[in-house]
Amino acid sequence: MLLTISTTHSPATDLGFLLHKNPAKVQSFSLPVGHAHVFYPRADAEQCTFAMMIEVDPVALVRGSGGERSDFSLRQYVNDRPYAASSFFSVALSKVLSSALAGKSSTHDELSNSPIPLEATISVLPCRGGEKLLHELFAPLGYEISAVRHTLDDTFPDWGESSYFTVSLRHCIPLKDLLTHLYVLVPVLDNDKHYWVGSDEVDKLLRRGAGWLDTHPAREMITLRYLKHQRSLVRFALSRLIPEEEDIEDEESESLAEEKVPTLHEERISAVFDLLKASGASRVLDLGCGEGRLLKLLLKDKQFEEIVGVDVSIRALEIASSRLHFEKLPDKVRKRITLRHGSLLYCDRKLEGFDAAAVVEVIEHLDPPRLNSFERTVFEFAKPKLVVITTPNVEYNVKFENLAVGNFRHGDHRFEWSRAEFLAWGTAVAERYGYALEVLPLGPEDEVVGAPSQMGVFRR
Ligand code: SAH
Repeated sequence: MLLTISTTHSPATDLGFLLHKNPAKVQSFSLPVGHAHVFYPRADAEQCTFAMMIEVDPVALVRGSGGERSDFSLRQYVNDRPYAASSFFSVALSKVLSSALAGKSSTHDELSNSPIPLEATISVLPCRGGEKLLHELFAPLGYEISAVRHTLDDTFPDWGESSYFTVSLRHCIPLKDLLTHLYVLVPVLDNDKHYWVGSDEVDKLLRRGAGWLDTHPAREMITLRYLKHQRSLVRFALSRLIPEEEDIEDEESESLAEEKVPTLHEERISAVFDLLKASGASRVLDLGCGEGRLLKLLLKDKQFEEIVGVDVSIRALEIASSRLHFEKLPDKVRKRITLRHGSLLYCDRKLEGFDAAAVVEVIEHLDPPRLNSFERTVFEFAKPKLVVITTPNVEYNVKFENLAVGNFRHGDHRFEWSRAEFLAWGTAVAERYGYALEVLPLGPEDEVVGAPSQMGVFRR
């Protein structure tokens, strides 16, 4: 998947400041399912071209797949995701170019909000709906569009045309507008969003769409496809799209504050962090640390003098390590943290003697017959004074409209418990190992089905 953005603005190398990427450097960023490499094929005063190549790891994609399932199981391995621009493209944009997307620049603030001549080329863009759709989406925004359609297979011309195009879009607009249009419209063209849509997607769409989507002639179709045909979400989004005058400003200032609205997972991590902090713990374990979201918070706080993250997935640990910029940490900071490859199903003496342990959204990944081993590893051998365990509340699943009845929230979940089931398990564990248990809701609570997640706080 390749995106290039060129400008002939003078001096053209200002593009580097707007993108917050140095034209002299090749840089790589890890993504949830692959890597993005950024570099400049050309950077001189007349023209500057930025390139972002996204490598999607199709196997990581299968492992991390959300609710999306297909009858054609080979589709998990035989698909266009590694090379076609899709919602991963938007994920990469928001991760690698977040400041540019928000129009932030400490050195070139004025330029980041000024129109400059820009040309974006996407090497393989799936246009489900053909070239006509491409024009319907980009022409009203003022783009000059050129598109070359690819045949399905040059060796077999009879097979006809594919739905893939190489697309170039030219316009004189602020860079942040171009990026925002791509962020919303590429997944709309692809029409195959990779993760299931929750209500926070509505907020994302409205934030990114502020200032242009409300007047776009294809706004219904964009909203429908972006929100992947979830009728009530679409209605909700459309009802919020044409705001009162004064609301428009709110939406815009919100877009600058981007990522400020916490996701459920951020809420969960910060609730766990607050508990660890309030307990006064200084030596802490993050068991099943995954990609290191909690570790990152812990590392920022000097109260936590020794932090150990454990995970069974090497890939997750690699991502954690790059997210923490492990290699670049000053010695003093790096000494405080260790990443360990290991399974929580086996006791490990290195986990003994800690003040507290966090186990965030991990137990539901364990086979139920193995839970007993997990309990012994954590409560009998490691036995920290405080253990905080979070897990989904399955009762809340009815609120996720596109999660089919009986399906779990994640392909790798082995079970999801109701509030009563979690309480029963926790109470038995607490009694067996001499802990006191308190169970708390996590996330916005519904009167009937409770909160989306639940948290057991075990104290010894
Ligand atoms: N706690 C992290 C990650 C949750 S995802 C967060 O909240 O962001 C669940 C994690 O548990 C995955 O990273 C998975 O690799 C890990 N995991 C699953 N089984 C495990 C086991 N037996 N031992 C250690 N980690 C395990």
